Amino acid sequence: MPTIVIATGNQGKLRELRELLRGAIPGLDVDTEVVSAAEVNAPDVPETGVSFAENSLLKARAVADATGLIAIADDSGLQVDVLGGAPGIFSARWAGRHGDDSANLNLLLAQLSDIAPEHRTAHFSCAASLALPASRGDFIAVEHGYMPGVLRYESAGEGGFGYDPIFESTELTEGIDGHDPAYNGEYAHLTNAEIPAEIKNAISHRARAFNALLPQIIRAVELYHGE
Ligand code: IMP
Repeated sequence: MPTIVIATGNQGKLRELRELLRGAIPGLDVDTEVVSAAEVNAPDVPETGVSFAENSLLKARAVADATGLIAIADDSGLQVDVLGGAPGIFSARWAGRHGDDSANLNLLLAQLSDIAPEHRTAHFSCAASLALPASRGDFIAVEHGYMPGVLRYESAGEGGFGYDPIFESTELTEGIDGHDPAYNGEYAHLTNAEIPAEIKNAISHRARAFNALLPQIIRAVELYHGE
């Protein structure tokens, strides 16, 4: 019997989240109890909010109420300092058409073409949310995760998606908060599209937001079962 629905149509996100939850939640069988939105015919929820947190909560709430399950959702994007935090919630449709990754990336590169290297700082942001269906109690939670970096002038690498080919993690190159570069600098000056997926997933905004949400997910499963 399903307990948790992941409110995403993205198979990559579903796989990543199943692995994060595996073994982390007492008594939860990830293979049978964690399902995708498509498996339970969950509605497609319009992202009408004005922040990552609002959009991810909108999705979690709507999907929880429609399915009667605990719903987990996220919303994420790239925030460029010199653009005042844009593209932000508009990341997936920056060039106009939703999900056109290469058009979005090329427009951003053109907008930043005159910006000097020291001003090309940015970060990925993610808000991860959960909601219990109203019938099981009033419980929602939202957590944030960040990945700081700098933007290249040209794309490099074939991995990842979205803005990954122009994004170099600060943590891998120079370290952050006075720490040495992560992985001893082995992945310094590489874009997110050039580093192994498991390295990106270990330090990504999404992993950080969902790791922060984990205690709330454990609590939601207890409440769902009436404990
Ligand atoms: P969503 O949260 O799946 O709707 O993602 C929004 C948009 O943000 C994506 O279409 C990408 O353009 C961008 N984005 C979010 N996370 C990443 C990432 O990890 N790498 C590259 N681009 C990302």
